[in-house]
Amino acid sequence: MNILIAEDDAPSRLILQSLLTKWGYTVTAVADGDEAWRILCEPDHPLLVILDWMMPGIEGPEIVRRLRVKEGSTPHYVIIMTSGTCENTPVLALDSGADDFIAKPFNHAELRARVNVGCRITHLHEALAEKLHKLESASETISRLARTDELTGLHNRRSFNESFTLALSSARRHNHPLSLISIDLDNFKRINDTFGHSTGDLVLKEFSDLLKEMVRIEDIASRWGGEEFIILLPNTSRDAAVTLAERIRSIFENQASSAKPLSVTASFGVAQLQNGENEDDLIRRVDNALYEAKREGRNRVVAY
Ligand SMILES: [Mg+2]
Repeated sequence: MNILIAEDDAPSRLILQSLLTKWGYTVTAVADGDEAWRILCEPDHPLLVILDWMMPGIEGPEIVRRLRVKEGSTPHYVIIMTSGTCENTPVLALDSGADDFIAKPFNHAELRARVNVGCRITHLHEALAEKLHKLESASETISRLARTDELTGLHNRRSFNESFTLALSSARRHNHPLSLISIDLDNFKRINDTFGHSTGDLVLKEFSDLLKEMVRIEDIASRWGGEEFIILLPNTSRDAAVTLAERIRSIFENQASSAKPLSVTASFGVAQLQNGENEDDLIRRVDNALYEAKREGRNRVVAY
């Protein structure tokens, strides 16, 4: 464990340094408050700090106050050394934010015990910070998984619905266009029945990769379920959505792939949000357009 000592009195500093080194600590010793503060502003500085109350430059209590303001997830453990002439100094030291104090001239056994407490608490803080970090990253993963379709890596239905509600309210407020593309792979059941589900899964993945490639960062390409997909396109007119759907349709139709033993195509419905419509109305219209594309012979784009 690293310890920073700031003490202007040279003999005291040397004694402290040699005792702490003898007890197995790694010590950085400085003679004034400005130098102590400079070290405490460096990355990876010692978290266990022993400060003299009065010294040139920034004094002990002021260093503690500054530390407490900038402290992150791993707090410092600060022991202030008081000269013991005023009976009020321990109270002032603790009130300034210090964790502990020790009166000079110090008793070696007491110093050792107090530094050991600081060391123990600093280790606990570090372990807690590491656990918190792991917890945060696990919670990020959980939240990402909850919004992602496992097979394709696209947004799932829940994620689509969240984004849809927000995008709809933003489109209404700013009077921006918003469109949906609803997609269904043609004759998909035949692939699964003839070649098995793993081939079917490969086709779904390839189509999803194409969607990811084709949409903008602000679009939400989602797997609606089975072989159905839906793309939310904020700030997009019906005509622009039709153009995008037609490009996806044509690329997919012509994409050579080992995962497509049969030629697989896709049908597309497109609709743009109209005044006074809610989520369900728009979904109903885009699904009607998709139904029409299927009815007209599949492998085509129909706009409502
Ligand atoms: Mg002093």
